[in-house]
This record gives sequence, C-alpha cells and structure tokens, in this order.
Amino acid sequence: MTIQRVAIIGLGLLGGSIGLAVREYAPGIVTTGYDRDEGVRKVAGERGLVGTVCDSAAEAVREADLVVLCVPVGAMEEAAAQLADHIPKTAIISDVGSSKQSVSEALSRALPGRTIIPAHPVAGTEQSGPEAGFASLFTNRWCILTPVDGTHENALAALSEFWTKLGATVEIMDAEHHDLVLAVTSHIPHLIAFTIVGTASDLEEVTRSEVIKYSAGGFRDFTRIAASDPVMWRDVFLNNKSAVLEMLGRFTEDLTALQRAIRSGDGDALHELFSRTRAIRREVIKEGQDDDRPDFGREDHG
Ligand code: NAP
Repeated sequence: MTIQRVAIIGLGLLGGSIGLAVREYAPGIVTTGYDRDEGVRKVAGERGLVGTVCDSAAEAVREADLVVLCVPVGAMEEAAAQLADHIPKTAIISDVGSSKQSVSEALSRALPGRTIIPAHPVAGTEQSGPEAGFASLFTNRWCILTPVDGTHENALAALSEFWTKLGATVEIMDAEHHDLVLAVTSHIPHLIAFTIVGTASDLEEVTRSEVIKYSAGGFRDFTRIAASDPVMWRDVFLNNKSAVLEMLGRFTEDLTALQRAIRSGDGDALHELFSRTRAIRREVIKEGQDDDRPDFGREDHG
C-alpha cells in the first residue's frame, strides 16, 4: 500500500507544515484539508497549505487513504468522531499529538475497528496557526509511531514511508514509553520555562523592565519556549499527567540536591553536574538536533 491521498484536519503549524512538506517533497500525493476556523481555512487557501481546502471535515476525508489529525490533543476525540461516517474503510487514521497514550485511546473510542496508527513528529516551534507552517519542519527530525498490537504491517510501512518522504526518520515505540521519554525531553522543559518566566514576571524587587532589558543572560531562551501555544500545552499536561508527574518528582529531588550543594558550598557537586550537562549538549549537536554556533547562531551575543 502506498499513500496517495492525504486529508489533514487542523491547518495550524503542524497541519500546514505537513501540507507544505508534501507539496515540496512528495508532490505526487494529493492533499485535502479542513480546519474548523473559517479564518484559518482562508489563510490555508492563500498559502496553498493543501491542494484543496474543504468546507467540511467530511468532504476533506471522503477519498483519503491517510487522515492526519493535527488538532490539540484534547480535541482529538471530538475531531475523530465527526469523521467516523465519512472515512473510507481502508484508510489509515493518524495524528501528530504530543502525547500518545491518551490520544491512542481517544482515537480507538471514536473510530472503533479502524486502522489507527498514532504518531508524533518531534518537530515544532513556539509559533502556531496557519501562517506558521513551513515545508522543512520535519527534515532530519524524528517521527515516533506508536502502533497498537495487531497493527497491519502494510499500513505501518505505508505511514513510515510517508513520514520518510517528508524528511523525518521514523522510530517505533509503545505509547507509554513515548509519553515518559517526551515528558523528560519536552514536557518538563516547557513546564520549567513556563514557571521561570512566570516567576520572573511576578518578582516585586526586580522590575519587569529589568527582566526584559537583561534577558540575554539566559532568561531570553526560556521566553521562547514559554511563548508556545497555551491551548496545546494545557492539553499536553492534562493528557500526559502520570508521566509528567513522575518526572517532575525526579526533577524536584534533583533540584533539592542542587539547593543543598549551593547552600553547603559543595563546588565539586556543582562542577560535576555542569560538566555532565555540557557533554549532553555536545551529543545533541553531534546528532544534528541543533545548531552548534554560539547562542544558536544569533548575531548579537549580548
Ligand atoms: P495550531 O497551530 O494551534 O493548529 C491547530 C488547529 O486545529 C487550529 O487552527 C485549531 O482551530 C484547529 N482545530 C481545533 N479543533 C479542531 C477540530 N475539532 N476540527 C478541525 N480543526 C480543529 O497547533 P499545532 O502547533 O499545529 O498543534 C497541533 C497538534 O500538533 C497538537 O496536538 C500538538 O500537541 C502537536 N504538536 C505540536 C508541536 C509544536 O511544536 N507546536 C510539535 C509536535 C506536535 P482553533 O484555533 O479554532 O482551535
């Protein structure tokens, strides 16, 4: 089975980027798309995010052999349920949600008996909406597929081939493990950024203008992450509750140990940790997951 017609539901950053990536790297695939927001549909049409922007989800999926749900994690079930009577029987249903266990369960409830292969392209930015997407978003990024037991091999191969065409490297994982890994690599870092930016803006003894003025000291990099879409992130934390809470417990313990080291003047402990973390950064760059120029290639190093 080869995917020839893709329907994209939700035409924001992820949906738009998939559409543009198909146009750029897999032009033989026909794309249709739908977003519940009329303004988003209008921009999607103007930017050519998909071949045909449809006025209903039913129309978008009618002839699809792959349907990709690109809506916030908390909206997946409702969006999928609306499609139940319209998706061709042989179609693969997938998504791009940032948490996988709850989405997998939600899609199975909404579309019982269908070929569902949840997915998460580990690629994104702090931008959202139909203006934010770009074709190369998935280039050299991972796309994690979390098939349930019994998923047909041909369907899995077809979805893997689709993501590979868009530039991603496919990895297969179970949903529970995905949620734990992403809690550490994405969800907790976002939570820390939301917290530190919130804390800094609440400080009474440091003015808000000083926080912004001296932000290049490190704060600035947290503000980028903390500017991410509030709806998306609210849904991620509500839907990956147990893995996030487990990892947050570990993080809190480590933070307490660090507090103790600072209080007791244990420079060796601080130096040992900071050396380990520096080595991780080198590995991230070696894996091609970030830019190795100083300050992420920013021109001013203030
Ligand atoms: P986005 O830019 O806000 O786009 C989501 C779009 O879906 C919005 O236009 C939204 O419209 C629309 N929508 C919501 N419910 C819908 C429904 N029932 N039917 C049709 N359209 C609906 O968000 P995004 O960043 O692309 O995120 C989409 C998904 O990708 C999320 O599940 C997120 O977890 C995942 N993801 C995001 C990133 C990232 O970095 N942003 C990375 C990887 C995965 P309204 O504005 O009217 O709600």
